[in-house]
Amino acid sequence: MRWQEGHRSPDVIDARGPGGGGGGGFGGMRLGIGGLVVVGILSVVFRTNLFPLFSGGGTTPARQAPAAQGPQRTGNAEEDRQVHFVSFVLDDVQANWTRIMPSLGRPYERARLVIFTEAIRTGCGAADSAIGPFYCPADQRVYIDLGFFRELRARFGAPGDFAQAYVLAHEVGHHAQHLLGIEARARAAQSRDPARENDLSVRMELQADCFAGVWAHSTQQRNLLEAGDLEEGLAAAAAVGDDRIQRSAGQRVRPESWTHGSAAQRASWFRRGWTSGDPNQCDTFGG
Ligand SMILES: [Zn+2]
Repeated sequence: MRWQEGHRSPDVIDARGPGGGGGGGFGGMRLGIGGLVVVGILSVVFRTNLFPLFSGGGTTPARQAPAAQGPQRTGNAEEDRQVHFVSFVLDDVQANWTRIMPSLGRPYERARLVIFTEAIRTGCGAADSAIGPFYCPADQRVYIDLGFFRELRARFGAPGDFAQAYVLAHEVGHHAQHLLGIEARARAAQSRDPARENDLSVRMELQADCFAGVWAHSTQQRNLLEAGDLEEGLAAAAAVGDDRIQRSAGQRVRPESWTHGSAAQRASWFRRGWTSGDPNQCDTFGG
């Protein structure tokens, strides 16, 4: 992807532990190490319905994101570059929403993005890296531990900068769902009819994939794509399909347990957004 090196975003909050990413920081969290990381990431990547997953505080205080704090320099050139890339994609995705959301009947309000390491307190409760990147509707923030991009490459077999961009655009897609009232309606329907909880979750996730595709369309229009970028996005959407994840974890493939949709569904909705560039084509609730 063609992007602006060194880009800084006013909406990125850097809550990484002292010394930057990777090690150190604040140890002693109850989750987030060893096998739990694997299980956690495999089962809940991009999950949007966070409340049942979070521990709601507990005894170990997690670091809280500062109200506003620009990126720190870590001395780690690769990680600094990663922060700039995330900042660029966040701003670009949100600029696109600012442009298109009025056609859906309301103005866009920008979300913020918190970069953290290991664990963080959020408006949705305490979370740790094992949960994967997520969006919290209560504080309208996207949370990500940059270590997830290593997981995406190594564990999910989805390398490339556009794979990472897809993840970010998907999470901002959840913010768009929140602003449009789609998330509130889905949540209400879930509590009215718990038997439809997973089905509604899948529809939410596939719509966020389609919204990510809508942004991908705009990058293509603006000639930001390099050869192979769309394939990276499609591959990443498929890599985090529930059937793929269940198979790679040695589990039986059980569609009734899915919360995000199959590899084929996810790639197909991403493609639909990308080919149309139109969020109105992302009605995953209609059919
Ligand atoms: Zn999601």
